[in-house]
Amino acid sequence: MQPRDLSDHVAYEAGRGIEEVARELDRDPEEFVKLASNENPHGPSPAAAVAIRETASNASSYPKAAHADLTTEIADRWAVADEQVWLANGGDGAIDYLSRAVLEPGDSTLVPSPGFAYYGMSARFHHGEVREYELSKDDDFSQDAETVLESYDGDRIVYLTSPHNPSGSTIPLKEVVEIAERTDEKTLVVVDEAYGEFADRKSAVAPIEGRDGFEARDDIAVLRTFSKAYGLAGVRLGYAVVPDEWADAYARVNTPFAASELACRAGLAAIDDDEHVQRTVETASDSRAYMRDNLETHVWESEGNFVLVDVGDAERVAEETQERGVIVRDCTSFGLPDCLRITCGTETETERAVETINEVLAELE
Ligand code: PMP
Repeated sequence: MQPRDLSDHVAYEAGRGIEEVARELDRDPEEFVKLASNENPHGPSPAAAVAIRETASNASSYPKAAHADLTTEIADRWAVADEQVWLANGGDGAIDYLSRAVLEPGDSTLVPSPGFAYYGMSARFHHGEVREYELSKDDDFSQDAETVLESYDGDRIVYLTSPHNPSGSTIPLKEVVEIAERTDEKTLVVVDEAYGEFADRKSAVAPIEGRDGFEARDDIAVLRTFSKAYGLAGVRLGYAVVPDEWADAYARVNTPFAASELACRAGLAAIDDDEHVQRTVETASDSRAYMRDNLETHVWESEGNFVLVDVGDAERVAEETQERGVIVRDCTSFGLPDCLRITCGTETETERAVETINEVLAELE
């Protein structure tokens, strides 16, 4: 017995951690800083860390109230009904729930290229096809309705990423609405706001709910995660906000106990710690500005907690930089073999990354 033919499925390439890299290079982990996976340089909210410890003794029981409490807390923040919040095992889990809720075998999903790999992976798992629209490097990865609609061909899900991974570009809400208006009635527009807290933009929850001058829509969903601004990537917690017309779908598509008790307790504590989020957002903004001003190469304008940088030969530069203790993301797997993506770090981390990359670039010239 073998698994079915999985040759069309590519494995998700997770960034390697400091321990792994240090072991491979036979070096002390203390020598490294990792700015490769858009993680929070301040770690989790201290309150979330306490909540995780306090929940530990209940780990033998199936999740109970925390899931409902967190759903209500999130729903209140967005001023939507509880049923519109679909908690999941990370933003990735929420992507799967949307695929399950929308796709039938053979249906296609339209994704950005370059873009976040899991959109396409999830579509394929759900026996769907994947089609792409191009965001052009020469056009600073700018996003608008025309760029997306040029490639649209009746796809059932259209992913927009704002801020976009890996470039950091964003899409205005009026363009999102235009896409929703000009696509078929059966098409869901998913606005992935995994990095939304870092951007000076309104969420696409407004057009779902018919606020801020938009008419309410039943064909837009928003994705959010606790992995970035909340510093909880390790607990795996994210959610989708869906239209109220979708109220009964979640119970039919979710995996039992969609988010763990530990994750939900951590989420409840983190969501209350505005100060931690604020500090994280400020750090990202300072780090972005520093990299833009001091890296001796082209840096794209970004509203995320990372910047995309033009370095010529990304594999080579990433390797040399890592050798000097700074781990950054080579964007070859995004189809950008000349770009690095650097996560915003603390002041010390950012300065070290900039100095190291400038040094490597100067040597390779
Ligand atoms: N969307 C985008 C654009 C991402 O970059 C990521 C994580 N790298 C996710 C969603 C999913 O994040 P998570 O599953 O950790 O919530």
